[in-house]
Formats: sequence, structure tokens, C-alpha cells
Amino acid sequence: MTTTTEGQRQSQNADLLLDCRQVTMAFGGVLALNEADLQVYRGEILGLVGPNGSGKTTLINVISGQYRPTAGRLIFDGADITGARPNRLAHIGVARTYQVPRPFTSSTVLDNVALAWMFGRRAHSRRDARNLARETLAFAGLAEKADLPVTKLNLHERKFLELARALALEPKLLLLDEVLAGLNPSEVQLGVELIRRIRDQGVTLVFVEHNVNAVIQLSDRMAVLNYGRKIAEGDPQQVMDDPAVVAAYLGDAYVAR
Ligand code: ADP
Ligand code: MG
Repeated sequence: MTTTTEGQRQSQNADLLLDCRQVTMAFGGVLALNEADLQVYRGEILGLVGPNGSGKTTLINVISGQYRPTAGRLIFDGADITGARPNRLAHIGVARTYQVPRPFTSSTVLDNVALAWMFGRRAHSRRDARNLARETLAFAGLAEKADLPVTKLNLHERKFLELARALALEPKLLLLDEVLAGLNPSEVQLGVELIRRIRDQGVTLVFVEHNVNAVIQLSDRMAVLNYGRKIAEGDPQQVMDDPAVVAAYLGDAYVAR
């Protein structure tokens, strides 16, 4: 019996790509994360939601190495990455997008993605990087924008460029912070399809999004943060029906008024 249990535990662990254990992030007196746990399994899209200020961006910042957590541990692909710097994390396969896109505005769309290919997980020559960048842009639906300056892109194109740059890092785990925010319904649909295609390439995704409908459409599992703690996790529909989640969102709506 013991052997079976141990075997099951190990096979579960093999599927675990990211394990955030009791992660706390304090900013002065504010606990942006308060002993938050999050498990992300290989190949899944995990939707991460929660009211404004609940700690979603902070969790992405901690996972991608922008902040060292005040307490807790992060295990990625079997290795302890607590406190690892963003560059090292990018090299072992953690990439992210920013809530506000951060392109190099002095470069073309193509060169923004080519730079990521040059300095990503495997080094590429400028020429190879530019060829790969064309493929990545085609994948993201931006082939025709390749030679434009970034400043000519609209919001949806900038958001998809942000995704293309992250993909050029060949991540195992891609953290998306509100990539669909501010997009109109047909752009959101394009984004949902693009994110599915990214997952189909074998990338695991954590998808932070305010648009709960998009999260329910896309996510294999969902987790909800409230005041820096995970209050629910599991099947998207069940999570959204959870009274604790309903209460957290009603609280948010009340505060927003
Ligand atoms: P979300 O992305 O869920 O809206 P955030 O993670 O951005 O929430 O913020 C969680 C809490 O932490 C908020 O109260 C926010 O004001 C605070 N916070 C986030 N980043 C910082 C920072 N760099 N310095 C101080 N407080 C911060
Ligand atoms: Mg945020």
C-alpha cells in the first residue's frame, strides 16, 4: 500500500511544473501576498483571478524574479528558484508579459522579437533570430506589421507583440498579466485563440485576467486570490460558484462603487 501511495505521489510531482509554497510578499505594512499557495501542472492553462489589489501581479512578479518573496518557497521544474533573478529564470524557461506592454520603442516590430530570440534560452545569430522572429510574428498574427516601428501598433497589436516576445524566449511556463485587458470582443477572441495555440505547442500558462468569461473559456483550472491568499482552486465553473469567491467579488463591486 505504502509503495502505491508513494508512486502516486511521485507521479503527481512529475506533473507539477511550478509549486508556490506559502509565499508572502510584504511591502512595508501591506501584505500583497499572504502565505499564498499555487500549483501549476505541466501543459495546463491555469486562470488566476481575484479582485483588484488581491496580489495577482505581485505573484507574477515573484514567480518571474522581479521580487524576492519575504517568506515562502518557489519550486520550478524540480529546482528551488526562490530569489532567482529574472535573467536566470528566463533561461530556465519562465517568461512573462506585462500588464502595460514594454516594447523597445526605437525598434521595429521584427527587431523587438529578434532581440528576444538572440538573448533567449538558446543564443541565435542576428540573421537566424530575424528569421525566427518572422515565424513568431506570423504565429501571433502580426506578419504584416513586422517592418513597422512599434509606435505604429495599436493596443491589441502591442499586446500580441508582447506575447510574441515572450514566445521567442521559448518558455516552459508563460505568465500572462492581463493580456486581454482593453481589447474589444473580437480582439479578445483572437487573443483566446492565440493563447490556445500557445498551449498546443506545449507551453504551460498562468493566465491572469480581469475578464472572467475569457478565463472560464480558456482555463483548465482556476485559482482565486483575495487579500493575498488563495481562497479557491479547481474546476472553473465550480470555483466561480464557490460562495467565498462570490463574496470576494461582491466585496470588490461594493468597494468599486
Ligand atoms: P492585482 O494585480 O491583483 O490587482 P497587485 O499585486 O498589483 O494586485 O497588488 C496587491 C497589493 O500590493 C495592493 O495593495 C498593491 O497596492 C500592493 N503593491 C503591489 N506592488 C507594490 C509595490 N511595489 N509597493 C507597494 N505596494 C505594492
Ligand atoms: Mg495586476
